[in-house]
Amino acid sequence: MIDGTIGMQDIRNQFPILDTEVHGHPLVYLDNAATTQKPVAVIEALDKYYRCGNANIHRGAHHLAAEATEAYENVRRQVQALIGARHSHEIVFTRGTTESINLVASSFAKRYFTGEDEVIVSGMEHHSNIVPWQLAGATMRPVPFSDDGVLDFKAMEQLFSPRTRLVAVCHASNTLGTINPIKEIVDMAHSHGVPVLVDGAQAVSHMKVDVQALGCDFYCFSGHKMYGPMGVGVMYGREELLNELPPYQGGGEMISEVTFERTTYNELPFKFEAGTPSVGDVIGLGKAIEFMLGVGIDNIAAQEGDLLHYATERLTALPGMRFFGRAPHKTSVLSFLVGTSHPYDVGTLLDQMGIAVRTGHHCTQPVMDRYGIPGTVRASFAVYNTRAEVDALAAALERIMPMLE
Ligand code: PLP
Repeated sequence: MIDGTIGMQDIRNQFPILDTEVHGHPLVYLDNAATTQKPVAVIEALDKYYRCGNANIHRGAHHLAAEATEAYENVRRQVQALIGARHSHEIVFTRGTTESINLVASSFAKRYFTGEDEVIVSGMEHHSNIVPWQLAGATMRPVPFSDDGVLDFKAMEQLFSPRTRLVAVCHASNTLGTINPIKEIVDMAHSHGVPVLVDGAQAVSHMKVDVQALGCDFYCFSGHKMYGPMGVGVMYGREELLNELPPYQGGGEMISEVTFERTTYNELPFKFEAGTPSVGDVIGLGKAIEFMLGVGIDNIAAQEGDLLHYATERLTALPGMRFFGRAPHKTSVLSFLVGTSHPYDVGTLLDQMGIAVRTGHHCTQPVMDRYGIPGTVRASFAVYNTRAEVDALAAALERIMPMLE
């Protein structure tokens, strides 16, 4: 029971894929940090859009175009409300977190980089929050973290220099689960006059996010990690900063006037939305937000917190387990190794029992280097997971242990 009104079975019933069998076993899907499954409302919204509502947005005079435009712009307002943005035009739709960060890195560098530019990142960033800055020409200044996966604030303070252009940090680590103290990070960066980009890919589906309360300048996330479709994401930016940045891509919709001599740009947010967006996916994202709000974000956090606690307890009791990421504030991610076994072997054997986990470096190679390991096995939980599934994982690990020796 999630709370007095919504039962776990009601929630699971909304996810048809959870009834799937894999290798003759009921699917136990514990790869939610990679992507969450989709509720019926999202699947049906996509189906309905392509059956009855497909049209290109903004420019059309006809009925379908007007309806699609309204539905698309409505989701912008839903996202604004979800993350507490001041204006809906601060919400830019992208393909996902990766594109959102590339957008900011490219435009921000054009506007503010001088040739000697440093970006402070946490040592636990996803490659998506490292490589775009390197491509933009920045030198990375990583903030170290403790064995438990907690950022070293004293060390961070030392990294600021006159060349620091931006702090780019994940709200929650996809490998360690650590929830970083974004407000404190923003306060520190702003006291040095440096703006902050937050990679919220692993946060938005797990906790209440309020970009104004956090005070961050940019906040990026992906629809597919929050029960929505693949192919849609969000870049939130503070209006004042977005007005300063040049466009990311050129094309239709982002212009005000084009001649062969000169182009002027459209107002926010359209300046950053060149070309035809993924309208159906944006509409699906709106349904995902409705799903999350229907369950209640506090209820989601409570359910996932319980699973994390229970799984940590169950798996710690097994022999030879090593865990990575024991910060006091964590999302529902459990990274581990079984003795000296390669994570891929563990993942493959678990798959034979219907259990889906992720193995490898999780696009965080610097984290693996920090611990001197090639990768981990990662179980990550969503609101539809159950203690029984944690039991299944623990039992399967116990069963495969002799095979791994
Ligand atoms: N940042 C973090 C922390 C992630 O976990 C991920 C995906 O795993 C990304 C960025 C990239 O997200 P996407 O592949 O949806 O663009």
